Amino acid sequence: MSLCSGSLTRRAVLAGAAGVAAIAAAPRLILAATPPHRFKHGAFEIMVVSDGHLVLPTSFLAPQAPQDERAALLKEAGHAGEQFHSATNVSLIRTPSDLILVDCGSGANFMPTAGKLAENLEAAGIARDKITKVVITHAHPDHVWGASDDLDELQFPEAAYFVSAAEWDFWHGDAVAKTIPEERHGFITGARRNLARMKDKLTLIKGGDDIAPGIRALDTSGHTPGHISIEIAGESGLLILGDAITHPWVSFARPEWTSPADHEPDRAIAMRKRLLDRLATDKMRLIGFHLPYPGIGIVERKDGGYRFVAA
Ligand SMILES: [Zn+2]
Repeated sequence: MSLCSGSLTRRAVLAGAAGVAAIAAAPRLILAATPPHRFKHGAFEIMVVSDGHLVLPTSFLAPQAPQDERAALLKEAGHAGEQFHSATNVSLIRTPSDLILVDCGSGANFMPTAGKLAENLEAAGIARDKITKVVITHAHPDHVWGASDDLDELQFPEAAYFVSAAEWDFWHGDAVAKTIPEERHGFITGARRNLARMKDKLTLIKGGDDIAPGIRALDTSGHTPGHISIEIAGESGLLILGDAITHPWVSFARPEWTSPADHEPDRAIAMRKRLLDRLATDKMRLIGFHLPYPGIGIVERKDGGYRFVAA
């Protein structure tokens, strides 16, 4: 049918249908939207926008840790069941000249509880085509699958995209398949598909490169081989951590415990310890992608480890 032959036409048809559906579903949509959390940092306005949450198996948390210590810590963290919820906090930075999104969320195809970024941006009055830059901390599904929509077009069509060269090489190399169990090889397909969408607008970067004045990429590799965080100048500093630190109890109290999500466990442990030491020493503010929404806080030393203090 000729109406459906081109993606623009297809988009127009679907947008019409979605428009009708949106009107019918409007009261629910408004109730479901999570308003962004906004604060000032130095010369910048920071907004944390929720992408919803992930539902993960509790067995995912430090499975190789000593079982009695692990059980005690999980009890303290309130994880009694077989699953737990992990927030997904996307940061948006407003500078005098840019609107910079850090990570894209999960999109429509990862988990039904996630992929809410586009609707939460819309509910907050932030048009997706006003975003000028998108930085990807790493190419796991919950960070990069939201780069494209269900028609495989970029969600943020006017943005320039930034990914670390090491991350790009990792997901496009042969070695990646050996670091991910077979049942999660869809992660590779999804990463490649979404990275391919942004290729014409992509700048490959490394730690130390500036995204904008006062906003710099920091090499925090380990969780993935090309993982970066974003360091923002002003006050005592602010680190947007991606997944270098993921759990509000385990990652802080026992940074030496590994997660099956870390591709390079030894490097991930060393990086977590280094980051926690720096955050506590310098009294820097942090935003953790998976810490309880909005994931903003500071780090304090406690009992030979650390603890997260939500702001
Ligand atoms: Zn993640």
